[in-house]
Amino acid sequence: MATERVVVVGAGIVGLCVAEALMRDGFDVVVLERAQRERDGASFGNAGLIVPSHVVPLAAPGVLGQGLRWLLDRESPFAVRPRLDLDLVRWGLTFMRSATAAHVVRSAPLLRDLHLRSKALHLALAERLGSAVSAPRCAGVMVVCGGRQALEEEAEIAERAVELGLRAEVLSAADVTERVAGPEVRCVGGVHYLDDAHASPRALMRALQAHLEERGAGLRWDAEVAGFERDGGRVSGVRLRGGEVVAAERVVLAGGVASAHLARSLGAYVPLQTGRGYSVTLDAAEQRPALPLLLSEARVAVTPLSEGVRIGGTMEIAPADRPVDPRRVRGIARSTERFLPGYRAETLTALPVWTGARPVSADGMPYLGPLRRDPRVVIAAGHGMMGFSLGPVTGELVADLVAGRRPEIDLARLAPERFARRAGR
Ligand SMILES: Cc1cc2nc3c(=O)[nH]c(=O)nc-3n(C[C@H](O)[C@H](O)[C@H](O)COP(=O)(O)OP(=O)(O)OC[C@H]3O[C@@H](n4cnc5c(N)ncnc54)[C@H](O)[C@@H]3O)c2cc1C
Repeated sequence: MATERVVVVGAGIVGLCVAEALMRDGFDVVVLERAQRERDGASFGNAGLIVPSHVVPLAAPGVLGQGLRWLLDRESPFAVRPRLDLDLVRWGLTFMRSATAAHVVRSAPLLRDLHLRSKALHLALAERLGSAVSAPRCAGVMVVCGGRQALEEEAEIAERAVELGLRAEVLSAADVTERVAGPEVRCVGGVHYLDDAHASPRALMRALQAHLEERGAGLRWDAEVAGFERDGGRVSGVRLRGGEVVAAERVVLAGGVASAHLARSLGAYVPLQTGRGYSVTLDAAEQRPALPLLLSEARVAVTPLSEGVRIGGTMEIAPADRPVDPRRVRGIARSTERFLPGYRAETLTALPVWTGARPVSADGMPYLGPLRRDPRVVIAAGHGMMGFSLGPVTGELVADLVAGRRPEIDLARLAPERFARRAGR
C-alpha cells in the first residue's frame, strides 16, 4: 500500500503541499510540472496571507451588484474580458446562482475550519523546512476602511467572525495607525483580525521544492500532461506531451485553472476560470507596515515580506496570457496612495508588474475530492483567492483520501463534481 505510485499534476503551492503530505505517508510521489524549474506562477507572487478571517466565500450576495458597478470603471479592482466562450457563460451563471445568503452561512464554518487547520500546518511545515524559510508571522491582518459604509460592512463581517470563534477588533482610525506602526494611514477605522498570519510565498515555494527534491520526490519540469491512459476504465498512467507515459496507481490533479480541462478529459465537469491578479513589490523600509493591510474599498493587499512590501490586487476574469492591463495597475497604485499617502502612485506604476492566475471555482469554494467515475483520481484545485492559505490543509486532506483515512473535516461541500447535474452532465 505505502509504495503505491501517486502522480501529482502541477507544482504550485497545492501540488507541492500534496506531494509533501503524501511523501510523509510513504507513497512513491512523482510531480509533473509543465513549466521550467525557475517559474513564477500564481503561487509565487501572491500576497502571502493566511486567512482564517476569510469566512465569506467569493460568491456572496452583494458581490454581483458591486461587480457590475466595477465593470464600468476601467481602474476598478474587477474586470471581465468578454469573449465568446460557452464555459465562461456557464461558469458565470453558476457563480450568480451560488451567490446566496444560504451559501455564505453554510460555507463560513467550513472555511474557518480549513483556514485554522491550515495555519497550524503552515507553522508545522515551516518547522520541518528549518532554516530555509522563516515561520509565518502571526500578527493578524488589518482591514482598513476609507469610508463609514465600508467600516459598517466590515464590522458586520467581524461580528460574524467573532460568532464563529475568531478574534476580531473594530478599531478607530487612531488605533489603526498605532497598530500599523509605520506609514501614515488615511481611514475612518478598521478591523484587526488577530488569527490571520502571513509568510513569503516565494521563499516557501523554493524551500518546499528543495525539501521534496532532497527527500527523493520525482519532480519533473517541462513535463506537460496531455492525457491519461486507462486500464479497464481506471486511470493507469499519465501521458505527457511528446507521448511518454508515466505509470500511476493514483493521480492528483493540482494543475490550477488547467485542472478543468484535465478533468474534462476524464469525463468530469469541474468549472474553473482564470482570475488574474497583479502585484508589485516595493523596497520600502520606512513605509513598512507592522502587519499586512487589506485596503477595503480598493480590494488591495499590502504585505510586509522579507523581499519588500508587496502590493497586490485586481480580479480580472481573462485568459492568463493576456498582456498586463496598465489601467488596472494604475487603479491599484492610485487607490494605495489614497489610503497610504507615503506610497506614491508614480513609484508603484514604475515597478515591474507580476501577474498570477487564480483558479476561481463557480462558487468560491475549492474542489477537493475524488472523481465519481474513478475515485483513484483526486482533484485539488479552485482555491481562488485562498490557495496560499489553504495549501497545507489541502495536502493533508488529499493524503487522507489517498491513504484511505477518513478526513477530520467533512468534504461534502467541496465535492469536485458538485455542478455536474446543473450543467446537464
Ligand atoms: C495578486 C494575487 C494575490 C493573492 N494573494 C493571496 C493570499 O494572500 N493568500 C492566499 O491564500 N492566496 C492568494 N492568492 C491566490 C493564490 O495565489 C492561488 O490560489 C494559488 O497560488 C493557487 O495555487 P495552485 O497550486 O492551485 O495553482 P498554481 O499555482 O497555478 O499551480 C498549478 C500548476 O500546475 C501546472 N500545470 C497546469 N497544467 C499542467 C499540465 N497539463 N501538466 C503539468 N503541469 C500543469 C501549472 O504550470 C502550475 O505551475 C493570490 C493570487 C493573486 C493573483
